[in-house]
Amino acid sequence: MQLQDALTRVWGYTSFRPLQREAMQAILDGRDSVVVLPTGGGKSLCFQAPALVVSESFASDGFAAQGFALVVSPLISLMKDQVDGLVVDGVAAAYLNSTQSFDERDAVLAGLRDGRWRLLYVSPERLVGEGSQGFRRFLLQSGVRYIAVDEAHCISQWGHDFRPEYRRLGQLRDEFPGVALHAFTATATERVRRDIVSELRLENPAVLVGSFDRPNLVYRVLRRDNLHRQLTQILSRHQGEAGIVYCASRREVESLADWLKEQGHGAVPYHAGLPDEVRSRHQEAFLDERADIVVATVAFGMGIDRSNVRFVVHAAAPRSPEHYQQESGRAGRDGLPAECVLIYSSADFVRWRQMLEGNGELTDSARSLLRDMERYASSTRCRHRSLVEYFGEPYTRGECAACDWCLKELDPVADSTVVAQKILSCVARVKQTWGMGHVTDVLTGRASEKVVAAGHNRLSTFGLLTAEPGAAVRGYIEQLVAEGWLLRAGEPYPVLRLTPAGASLLKGTGTCALYREVQPPKPKRRVRGRAGEPVPQGVDSELFDALRALRLQIARHRGVPPYVIFHDTTLREMAERRPKTLDDLHGIYGVGARKAADFGDAFLDAIRTYRRPD
Ligand code: ADP
Repeated sequence: MQLQDALTRVWGYTSFRPLQREAMQAILDGRDSVVVLPTGGGKSLCFQAPALVVSESFASDGFAAQGFALVVSPLISLMKDQVDGLVVDGVAAAYLNSTQSFDERDAVLAGLRDGRWRLLYVSPERLVGEGSQGFRRFLLQSGVRYIAVDEAHCISQWGHDFRPEYRRLGQLRDEFPGVALHAFTATATERVRRDIVSELRLENPAVLVGSFDRPNLVYRVLRRDNLHRQLTQILSRHQGEAGIVYCASRREVESLADWLKEQGHGAVPYHAGLPDEVRSRHQEAFLDERADIVVATVAFGMGIDRSNVRFVVHAAAPRSPEHYQQESGRAGRDGLPAECVLIYSSADFVRWRQMLEGNGELTDSARSLLRDMERYASSTRCRHRSLVEYFGEPYTRGECAACDWCLKELDPVADSTVVAQKILSCVARVKQTWGMGHVTDVLTGRASEKVVAAGHNRLSTFGLLTAEPGAAVRGYIEQLVAEGWLLRAGEPYPVLRLTPAGASLLKGTGTCALYREVQPPKPKRRVRGRAGEPVPQGVDSELFDALRALRLQIARHRGVPPYVIFHDTTLREMAERRPKTLDDLHGIYGVGARKAADFGDAFLDAIRTYRRPD
C-alpha cells in the first residue's frame, strides 16, 4: 500500500495536512526526525500511516512488511483512544501498559510473536523502566521498524511537562541499532527542540516545524474580577456547546463544577484527587457527549480531548505559554470556530511561584516561562501574533480578526500617557521598593496600614487615580510592565522599578497607550442542532442529531468514545449530502474502507428512513 492509498482507503481523508507527507516520508526513508505540529495538526497520522506502507528501506533488513511501528506515548487514556481508533479503522494495533490484566498483556505479546501488529503503543515506564531489558530484547527480535516518540517535549526540562522517565529513552539508540527514531511534539521552542535531538541522540534528523497559528480560534484575555459573572458571559455565547474550564486547584475545580451545575449546566469535575473510577466516569461522560463542560485542573487535562470543543476557559493563568497553547489548543480541533478565554490575575503568578518553590521546581526555566505567560496575559497586541511569535515563527497575516485586540474589544483609556506618567511617578516616589498592591493603594488613595506606616499617604501621588477602581489600576501597571515601561522583579515579593524607557516617559519623552477591561461581545445567534452544536446553513439539524444518536449507540456497543466511530464533520457531511449507496459514502470525509463496511449500512439506513418532522 502507498501513503496516498492508506490515507484515502483506511482513513477516508482526501489530502495530507501541512508537513504530514514530509514527516511520513522521513519515516519511510529511515531518517530520524523531529516533527513539531500544533495540537490538532495531525501528528498521529504521521507515524500511523507509514506502518501500513512497505518500503525499500524496511525490506532491506530482512523484516520486510512483517515488522511493526513502536509508539512511545505517555498517557494511558490517549494510548487507548488511539488504538481504539486504529482498530475501528481496521488497522491491527495494540498497546501495553500497567492497566491491563495478565491475560490481556499475554494476548498482546502473543500477537507480537505472531507478527500480527502493525503498531504497538507502550508507555515509557514499560519500555525503559526498571527490569525492562528483556522486554526490549523481545521487541527487537519481533521486528521494530521504527520508533515514534509522542509528546517528545517531556524529555526536556525546558518543556512544560518534563518527565524524568523520558530521559531514559536515550538508551534506545544503542539497543535498537539501525532503527530510526521519530520525535513528535506540539511544543515548538527552539530550546526544547534542541533538547529532544540531543537527549534522543537523533542523527542528522529531518526537522519539520509546522505553523502554530490556529486561525479558527478566537483568543480573549480578561482580568479576573467577578469570575462567576465573567463565566456567565462567556457561557452565554456557547449554550449547549462543549467546553473545558481550567482551574488552578482541585478545590476550585470542585466549587466551580458545583456552581455550574446549580446554573443548569451539564458540568463534571476532573482532577488528580478524584478516585480513578470517578475520574474515568467523568471523562467518559464528556467524551460521550453526556456532559457539556468539564472543569479540570491545569495540571491534569491531557485525557479530555474531544474534537468539537467550542470553548476553553482558563479561570487562572497556566504556568507557561506552552501550557496555554496546548490547553487552549484543545478547542476547535475539528477546524470550526472556537473561543479561548484566559481569565487571570497577577496573583496567579505569585501562587505558581510559591507552589513551584514548595515542590523544589522553581528553576530558572520555570521562572522565565512564568514571566512569558504573564507577558502574554497583560500585553495589548494581537494574541495570535503573540503566540505565534513566541514559538519563533514570523506572523504574516496582519490583523487576525480573531482576538480581543484585533476585534477592537479593548477600550482605550483617554490620556493614556498622562495616566502612565502618574503611575510611573508614584513608583519613583515610593523609591522603587514597593510591589504592585502597595503602589495601587497609594494611587487609589487607600490609606492601608502599610501605606500609613510608610508615610505614603502624604506623598503628592497619593490618590492621583481615585476615580479608577483598584483592579483597573493594577491592570494598567501590568500593561506598563508588559510593554517594558516598568520592571517587576525580586523574590519573594516582586517590587516595581522604572526601566530606562519608563524614566524617559516620566520626563515627557514618548507616548504610551493603555486599555481598559474588554467589552465582551454579545451572544451570537446561529442555527443549532438540538444538542447545541453549530450546524452550517443547509444542513438538516434534525438529521444531524439522528446520526449523532446512532453514532452514540454504536460507540456504546463497542465501548469506545463516539468520535472514534465518526467525527462530527463526517456526520455533518452525511446530513448535507445524504449518500444513498456505499459508493457515495466512500466520498465522505473520514469514511475509510473498514468503517464503511462496518457502519455504512446502519448510517445509510438512518438517512434513508429519516423523515423531517413536520
Ligand atoms: P495532534 O495529535 O497533532 O493533536 P491528531 O493526530 O489528533 O492531532 O489529529 C487531529 C484530527 O485531525 C484528528 O481527528 C485526525 O483524524 C484529523 N486528521 C489528521 N490528518 C488528517 C488529514 N490529512 N485529513 C483530514 N483529517 C486529518
